[in-house]
Amino acid sequence: MTETPTPARLRVAPSPTGDPHVGTAYMSLFNLAYARHTGGQFVLRIEDTDRARYVADSEQQIFDTLHWLGLDWDEGPDVGGPYAPYRQSERLDTYQPFVDQLIADGHAYYCWCSRERLKDLREEQERSKTPDTGYDRLCYGKTRAERAALPGFTDTPVVRMLIPDDVPLTFPDVIRGTLTAPKPDDQVILKADGFPTYHLAVVVDDHLMGITHVVRGEEWISSTPKHILLYRWLGWEPPAFAHMPLLRNADRSKISKRKNPAARLTWFREQGYLPEALRNFLQLMGYPPVHGDDEVASFEDFVAGFDWAKINPVGPIFDLDKLTWLNGHYIRALDPAELAGRIATHLAEAGQWPTPPDQQAMNLLVRATPLIQERLTLLSEALPKLQFLYTPDADLVVDDDAVTTLGEAAPQALAGAISVLEAMPEDGFTATAIETALRTALVETKGLKPRVAFAPVRSAIAGSRVSPPLFESMELLGRASCLNRLRALQARLATAA
Ligand code: GLU
Repeated sequence: MTETPTPARLRVAPSPTGDPHVGTAYMSLFNLAYARHTGGQFVLRIEDTDRARYVADSEQQIFDTLHWLGLDWDEGPDVGGPYAPYRQSERLDTYQPFVDQLIADGHAYYCWCSRERLKDLREEQERSKTPDTGYDRLCYGKTRAERAALPGFTDTPVVRMLIPDDVPLTFPDVIRGTLTAPKPDDQVILKADGFPTYHLAVVVDDHLMGITHVVRGEEWISSTPKHILLYRWLGWEPPAFAHMPLLRNADRSKISKRKNPAARLTWFREQGYLPEALRNFLQLMGYPPVHGDDEVASFEDFVAGFDWAKINPVGPIFDLDKLTWLNGHYIRALDPAELAGRIATHLAEAGQWPTPPDQQAMNLLVRATPLIQERLTLLSEALPKLQFLYTPDADLVVDDDAVTTLGEAAPQALAGAISVLEAMPEDGFTATAIETALRTALVETKGLKPRVAFAPVRSAIAGSRVSPPLFESMELLGRASCLNRLRALQARLATAA
């Protein structure tokens, strides 16, 4: 019998400092998976204490992109919950008493050193290559007046942790076993602007919000001894820590917003990836496929078998070709009408179509989508492939290479196709009827090779050498439009001759 796990409480705690990073989705996915696996809760907390890096619309982008991915939270700034508020800037009163307590207990102290003094200190340490880096504790043990008598003083102090010499540096990690981090500096916990730093706020909030597992990126490993120290000083039980691997490029460098467009979560939506494909892709980062060799798996199956022991902490390679392949898979699996809806939404978001879409344009899209579904890998490719169906006949420009590559028999094929269409009834203008009639006239009667017969027709109809299936496209355009296009190319060839 398998043990029923204790319901766990997990959180993702992004900072609204710009376009959300793909790592936020990755962390959310694994936090959410374990919360669901145990029947617990998943919390979204906005860590906006760094006012210098704060970007106003970033929070909304975090909500939108995570919702788009279906990574929904049980508690958060927008949905509330028993531990509200879930935005750190609204919790300043919560942190202050803990800062006071740490000072009173001798675990923290005021520091009045000016920015310039700290900068000079750092530069001096670099120059002298001293092993004693970090803050030199000039302010420690001094009253304000004592410190004010010395150079490099500012009026508004910060509060620093007094890191003891015997700070424990080793701690258990759910994914990596026992970890050891370097000895920390006297970390600032309260800034001059009255905001806590991340380190204090994260500990206070994780404790007060009942978080049982802190699952975050490996870049936080070196901060964990500071956090464990704060838990100990405040008399609290620390949560379990799990440090996930960082996503990497093929050359092992970190995925960064500066270098990789794919580091921005909004990029995937702009490009026309489906949320289910991106979710499936992120499920495979550092985690084996749920169904053996088959890399396709639903979130539900991922959750059902979720196990921290399966995570490989070596930085997974973010392979966009794999994502594109998965996207094609999910596109093919959609009902065509649903796919047409997704394409329309994508076009609206890209500002290419109005919301709601024009009804006629939408009807055409619903009929045309099955023609491209099999070969489509990104939603953004749909309109370019179908543009010829939306272009008025008079505006269709036939690509030069769709003309120059046609053989000598092109005029003959076009003339034959025109006669065939003129003779066809308006209401029986179906793909099968068109194909049968054209084959009979051009291939069987005139003896043209199918390629020779149909290439000019394709160029005329679609304006290019490659197009969705020809006869189906002709059916969608209708007889009159097809005739206009065939005659236009016929005229162009005649002038060129
Ligand atoms: N606010 C931190 C970040 O932006 C959260 C780190 C954590 O999960 O503890 O990554």
